[in-house]
Amino acid sequence: MDWYNPQDIEIPNGHFINGELRTFDDDTLSEVCCPSSGKPYASLPCASENTVDFVINSTKQAFTETDWATMAPRDRADYLFKWASLVENDREYLAQLESLGSSRPYHEVLQWDIPYVVDCLKFFAELADKHGGYIGATQQNRLGMVINQPYGVVGAITPWNFPMSMLIWKVGPALAAGNAVVLKPSELTPFSSNHLARLACDAGIPKNIFNVVQGLGHTVGQAICEHPSIGKVTFTGSTATGAAIMSTCALKGPKPSTLELGGKSPQIVFNDADLDKTATIVAKAITGNAGQVCVSGSRLIIHESIEKQFTQQLVEYFSQLKMGATWDKETTLPPIISARQADRIESIVSQSIADGAELICGGKKVLEGGTFYTPTILKMNKADNCAITSEIFGPVLTVQTFQTDEEAWNLASHETYGLAVGIHTNDIKRALTGMRKVEAGSVWINRYGRSFDHIMPTGGFKQSGIGKDIGVEAFQANLHSKSVLIDF
Ligand code: NAD
Repeated sequence: MDWYNPQDIEIPNGHFINGELRTFDDDTLSEVCCPSSGKPYASLPCASENTVDFVINSTKQAFTETDWATMAPRDRADYLFKWASLVENDREYLAQLESLGSSRPYHEVLQWDIPYVVDCLKFFAELADKHGGYIGATQQNRLGMVINQPYGVVGAITPWNFPMSMLIWKVGPALAAGNAVVLKPSELTPFSSNHLARLACDAGIPKNIFNVVQGLGHTVGQAICEHPSIGKVTFTGSTATGAAIMSTCALKGPKPSTLELGGKSPQIVFNDADLDKTATIVAKAITGNAGQVCVSGSRLIIHESIEKQFTQQLVEYFSQLKMGATWDKETTLPPIISARQADRIESIVSQSIADGAELICGGKKVLEGGTFYTPTILKMNKADNCAITSEIFGPVLTVQTFQTDEEAWNLASHETYGLAVGIHTNDIKRALTGMRKVEAGSVWINRYGRSFDHIMPTGGFKQSGIGKDIGVEAFQANLHSKSVLIDF
């Protein structure tokens, strides 16, 4: 039984520029596949360097010539609130568009992603007039003011795993702070961005203040990072791409960049935790969106006395998940975004087993319609097994055991990544010790995953990122300060 007919959805194809969908003569085409069927459903026009230049110049002109940056901040907030309400009104269409092109099941987009986007946008709108600056402690006949100003045009580059939520993390705070934005969404999930940009225009945000330019990372993404009129780059994606972007920003600027990158997050389970509740949390944290979540809890670190019973509970949970299309009402395990990504998961799992890991369950690529991967548990033999060292970005959980708390903290701290950690225990002293010791940007105690508490910034330690999304920090990161001295 389906939620909607995927054939019926109107695709807003093209670039969204100056309030309309456009294509250009020198666009090249790239096939966009539906992960649930594995079949192409659109040809995406990819911009040339000239088009990127044209779009950025048009955005810069709008930043300079409209009153977006200079209007009363409460008026800017009103536009963003209006935008949020238009998103809410169009939730069914947006949920269909998003679920057709991504791994996000329709009902989850409707129940989680859309309310999240709306709420997050309102959070940033509310911050529009909550920042000022301060008066510096200067000598008596001088006034020193530190004032905050937007960068101008922010270049935003986003991944495919939560296309609308990632967009709003970037575009929400940038616009609220008075910037204009040029966004390049992932070429794998390009279309919901166009409809969100249209709704921004419908809400009265001046044309060209938020433009979407489509294309591949190494061409369009690269051209955005290189452009002299981009004041700042904000990126979410893999660590390797983040490093490339940072280097481009350094060489072609230097210009600032905020980077939200990959992860390999541990879930630590002590034997005093509420095990039934924890098993469900741990299972959901690795199978949600088929493990294609930056903060997936992909490393189970468990007290050796409860390992066998606990992994058995996980195996039972996994066995009840139903693979299927994102538009199927019964789906609880969605597809992997692309055949390439499924091959990558398969190859890391095979290598891990070849290197001595024990396969407890799963380990199979399934080609039925789209590409799926069975939820997998791998018992680790050594800490440098590739299933631990690499971000797999699929429903693959590694298991390591500990005897002492100190061992647990040591196993949890990853050599490369530091995005999030889950600590499951009823001992508050233990939980707070872990909170301090494990190197990660988010600590979740007796829960796992992000919430609607947008005041809580998210971001990584180590190679999981530089800077924060959400929270007041994300808003502040879209402003730079200016020092003003007046003698009198
Ligand atoms: P990716 O790095 O392959 O691509 C992300 C974006 O960067 C895409 O739009 C792509 O076209 C663009 N890009 C690629 N090469 C580029 C270049 N040289 N210059 C400029 N842009 C370029 O990542 P992905 O596969 O789309 O997303 C999955 C990754 O994103 C995972 O590693 C995941 O952990 C990470 N992620 C992190 C967070 C977070 O909050 N830390 C959130 C979501 C996803």
